[in-house]
Amino acid sequence: MKETKEGIDRYLQDESNSKSVNVEEVCVPEGAADLSFFLKHTKKQFTVFGGGTGIAGGATARGGIIVSTEKFNRIKINQKEKTAEAGAGVKLFELHAELEKYGLWYPVDSTEQTSSIGGNAATNAWGTRSYKYGSIRNFITELGVVTAAGDYLEIKRGGLKADGLIFNAEGNVFEIMDLSDKEGVKNSAGYYMRKNMDLIDLFIGCEGTLGIISDLKLRLLDTPLDIHAFMLPFLERGKAFDFVKRLKEHIRLKPLSLEFMDENSVELLRDKFAFPAGRICLVFTEFEEKSEIMDEFLEFVESEGIDTDRVKTESALKKQGFIYDAREALPQTVNEIIRHNKTLKISTDFSVTDENFSELVKEYYNALGKTVVKHVVFGHAGNNNLHINFMPENRPQQEEAVLIYDLLAKKAAAMGGSVSAEHGIGKHKKKYLKYMYNEEQINAMREVKKYFDPDNLSCPGNIFD
Ligand SMILES: Cc1cc2nc3c(=O)[nH]c(=O)nc-3n(C[C@H](O)[C@H](O)[C@H](O)COP(=O)(O)OP(=O)(O)OC[C@H]3O[C@@H](n4cnc5c(N)ncnc54)[C@H](O)[C@@H]3O)c2cc1C
Repeated sequence: MKETKEGIDRYLQDESNSKSVNVEEVCVPEGAADLSFFLKHTKKQFTVFGGGTGIAGGATARGGIIVSTEKFNRIKINQKEKTAEAGAGVKLFELHAELEKYGLWYPVDSTEQTSSIGGNAATNAWGTRSYKYGSIRNFITELGVVTAAGDYLEIKRGGLKADGLIFNAEGNVFEIMDLSDKEGVKNSAGYYMRKNMDLIDLFIGCEGTLGIISDLKLRLLDTPLDIHAFMLPFLERGKAFDFVKRLKEHIRLKPLSLEFMDENSVELLRDKFAFPAGRICLVFTEFEEKSEIMDEFLEFVESEGIDTDRVKTESALKKQGFIYDAREALPQTVNEIIRHNKTLKISTDFSVTDENFSELVKEYYNALGKTVVKHVVFGHAGNNNLHINFMPENRPQQEEAVLIYDLLAKKAAAMGGSVSAEHGIGKHKKKYLKYMYNEEQINAMREVKKYFDPDNLSCPGNIFD
């Protein structure tokens, strides 16, 4: 237990800049058994705090107890099996450092390295390389979960599947609803529910509402010999998106990542990075080492009318160098400006299917063309998931940015898209979840929660009220 005010302060805020209120205490259990004992005897509402890098306010509490997973920090690598068993509190950078010793690779790697692997599982995190490898969901083979009642569940992929929409675990029965119409959309909003689904997938992305993930097992890949990163400049935004579209349709070229940075982003970073001249936007892409593919990619670039002398290339296995520095500097610079302006970070995380992407981009630029609020547009173009980051200079501009966010959330949802492709719903995006799912669908999620947590103790207020 942490007792001093200084001791608990760092658990009371996440990267969304919202703060916990009325927290009674912070509990830092030693492991699953300790946590189980604590929950069996406490019977109070609690909120799980992993790395605190979430940007939807999910790790902040409205009363009750904060449970930190920081001591769940054991890592065990099985080189032969190519798996890692990790405590939920293991930070991404710690996992990578350990895997490096064994030549093994976890390619999802959500951008923020101080996030915990348990938090990544709870939010179904994605990374730049998710264009090829998808989210953490694709790599989790086992989960250890401590429920609000203090019971420990060992959930193995393949261990229990729904029969249609019914789960039956030795006579304990509950029902789900099929939400598979979101298939094909990058999505981390609300519960994952599908016909004949695996139980483990229900817990991935549930943002702590069904219990506390104490440990997990990940499948791993061999580290590639190298990764080649390319940065391509475009004088016209439309051409950049055409390039992205054609690369996605290419039969043999299968990039690891496919990212976009608009003209405002480039101008914002120009003082710090020697980008090619002109008011340009950029496309980043990466490939695993295969020399014949590299040649084919450069031929493809030439055939698209791009001067290969203006294309920057570097080795990106360690995610270091100009291209990565520029990519990472962007959200950091935006955050600095927002802190300086003392306004809120308003950042969209919408996604749609391939078919609807150009329509959504058109809607973005229609809306952005009418505002004076400064903004940048960047992110995961390959997954049809661009982030608009607004940098309001005062309260009225902040309110205007919120209105634009709201309008575009409705547009994305109306196209069958997601209002939260990778950041979760937490406490801040519940309103937008209602644009995406109707009351009946959200009630079906509530019913599942009631089954696992009838007294609403685990992360109350996340995803839905
Ligand atoms: C600069 C920056 C870049 C980012 N880039 C990406 C990105 O590329 N892709 C991406 O997906 N996200 C990104 N994020 C968001 C964030 O890093 C992810 O959401 C991450 O998965 C959160 O992990 P965490 O350990 O920090 O979780 P926290 O912030 O501590 O918690 C997030 C949610 O998960 C719950 N939770 C945490 N641990 C557990 C657990 N063990 N069991 C049950 N519930 C738990 C919390 O209650 C909360 O609801 C970024 C954030 C920042 C600040």
